[in-house]
Amino acid sequence: MSRRKKLYEGKAKILYEGPEPGTLVQYFKDDATAFNAQKKATLEGKGVLNNRISEYIMLGLGRIGIPTHFIKRLNMREQLVRQVEIIPLEVVVRNVAAGSISKRLGIEEGEQLPRSIVEYYFKKDELGDPMVSEEHITAFNWASTQEIDDMMAMALRINDYLSGVFSAAGIRLVDFKLEFGRYYEGDMVRTVLADEISPDSCRLWDMDSNEKMDKDRFRQDLGNVTEAYAEVAKRLGIMKESGQAPANDEGK
Ligand code: ADP
Ligand code: MG
Repeated sequence: MSRRKKLYEGKAKILYEGPEPGTLVQYFKDDATAFNAQKKATLEGKGVLNNRISEYIMLGLGRIGIPTHFIKRLNMREQLVRQVEIIPLEVVVRNVAAGSISKRLGIEEGEQLPRSIVEYYFKKDELGDPMVSEEHITAFNWASTQEIDDMMAMALRINDYLSGVFSAAGIRLVDFKLEFGRYYEGDMVRTVLADEISPDSCRLWDMDSNEKMDKDRFRQDLGNVTEAYAEVAKRLGIMKESGQAPANDEGK
C-alpha cells in the first residue's frame, strides 16, 4: 500500500486523502472515548463492526433517497466517502428519554417522549458540544435556514427508516446523532449526511430485555461492549458472529 496523506485524526476515525479529488478514506479505529474524551479505551474489533454497520445503514438510507457521503467500503476498516465541508453541528434525534435530556429536564430514562425531538449541538470539543438553538445557528452563520430545514427533514426521515430497521431486529432506537456536510458539485451545494451511524452514535436497547447495545456500555462500564456491537451487526444480518464477516465477503 502506498503512503497516503492523513488529513485528520479524530477520536474514533482517521481521514486520509482519497484516490480521486473530492474523496476521502475514512478509517475506523478501535479507540473509544466518552465524556468529552476524559475516558478512553481501545475496544478490539469495534472499528471493524462500526465500518460494517455504518456501511449497511448508509446504503439503506441511499436507497430511500437520503443523500450521503458514502461511496463504498474498501476493506474491513475503511470506506471511501465524498469529502464535504462539515456543518459544525451535531443533530440529535430522540424517541425515548436517556442521557442528557433525562438529566437536564428530569425525565426518567426509558420514558417514551410525546413525539420525536430534534436537538442541535455546536460541535466544539473545547466547549463540550453545548446545545444551541436555531437562533444561534443562523446568527453565528453555522448553517443557513435552508440547511437547517434540510437537516431537520432528513433527520426525521432517517429516524423513521432506522426505527423500522432496528425494530425488525428486535432493537429500540432510543436516540442517535447525525453530522451533515456541504457537498459542492460545480456551483451547486447539497446538504448530505456524513460521518457514521453506528452503536457509537446511537442508543440501542434490546426490545425484550431493555439491555443496552451501544456506547453506553462503555460510558457506564457495563462490559461486553464489542460483543453488544457484534450482536447488533448479527441481528441486522451483516455479520454472523463477533467480528466475523459472512463467508461470501471478500474481506481484504
Ligand atoms: P471527532 O473526534 O472529531 O468526532 P472522528 O474520530 O469521529 O472525529 O472522525 C471523523 C471526523 O471527520 C469528524 O470530525 C467528522 O466531522 C469528519 N467527517 C466525517 N465525514 C466527513 C466527510 N465526508 N468529509 C469531511 N469530514 C468528515
Ligand atoms: Mg466523531
